[in-house]
This record gives sequence, C-alpha cells and structure tokens, in this order.
Amino acid sequence: MANYQHILVAVDFSKEFEAVLAKAIEQQKINGARMTLVHVVEYTGAMYTGEIPLPEDLDLDQRLAKQAESKLQAMIDERQLQNTTHLVEIGTPKREIVRVAEEQKADLIIIGSHGRHGLQLLLGSTANGVLHLAKCDVLAIRVESD
Ligand code: AMP
Repeated sequence: MANYQHILVAVDFSKEFEAVLAKAIEQQKINGARMTLVHVVEYTGAMYTGEIPLPEDLDLDQRLAKQAESKLQAMIDERQLQNTTHLVEIGTPKREIVRVAEEQKADLIIIGSHGRHGLQLLLGSTANGVLHLAKCDVLAIRVESD
C-alpha cells in the first residue's frame, strides 16, 4: 500500500464520525503522515423553501464557519493530535473536499461511508460524490447505522 504523506479527513460532526476519526488517526500513525481535518459549512444560499430561494445569509455562513473552527480545534486539542491542522470552507461538501485536497496536495481523503445524508444507503451522497470527483485515493470508512 502507498505511503501517504498528507491525509485529508472530511469531518461532518455526526455521532457516527468518531469511528471515522479513530481510523484516520490509525492511518496517520501507520503512514507517519500529516493530517488536515476539513469541515464544509453548507452554503445557506443554496437552501430552498419550496419554490422560493432563501436570500443569501453570508453572516450566518460566517458564524457557522467560526463555530466549526472551534469544534475542529477542540477535536485536535482533546486528542492531542500531532502534525494535524484544520480548515473550514463554505460551499458544497463534495466539491469543497475535493478542491481542498487538490489545493493542499493531499494524497488520501478519508471520509465516512455515510453521515447525515445517507443512512439508508451504502454510500452517502458526499462519499459518493468525493469518490467520483477526487484525483487522489479515497478511503471510505464503513459507518454502521443503528
Ligand atoms: P453523507 O453524505 O452526509 O452521508 O456523509 C458521508 C461522509 O461525508 C461523512 O461521514 C463525512 O466524512 C463527509 N461529510 C459529509 N458532510 C460533510 C461536511 N459538511 N463537511 C465535511 N465532510 C462532510
């Protein structure tokens, strides 16, 4: 198996995510890699109520991004993760995850098989999208649903 140098972990803060993070930390240790945790705040401008698009709320997006920054930092601090940084982006999760992976030259993306959007499915929509769009390897960690 390839020796990965930079692992990008897609964090959705779902309760199932703990298992994904545990496997990511394992992979980081095995590979001696650096790790970046990324969370994408879903662009509120893309939400719809019926036919009427909600007005863009940049302020809300920024506030959610700030909260996510703190949560990612706490995740790193609580586990005393070494060689690990975090990033928060605003947009469509699958596109932002892939874009950040290219920008940061990550050679492995680790993602949960499903989180909030895919409990009935083998692969959630984000995992499926990332698998199709990514130019680097993708490790989808099987998340058990209740
Ligand atoms: P889902 O498409 O919601 O079933 O999520 C599958 C996996 O995609 C999750 O376990 C996360 O690894 C990742 N993911 C989903 N939403 C986000 C998000 N907003 N930011 C970062 N990663 C995400």
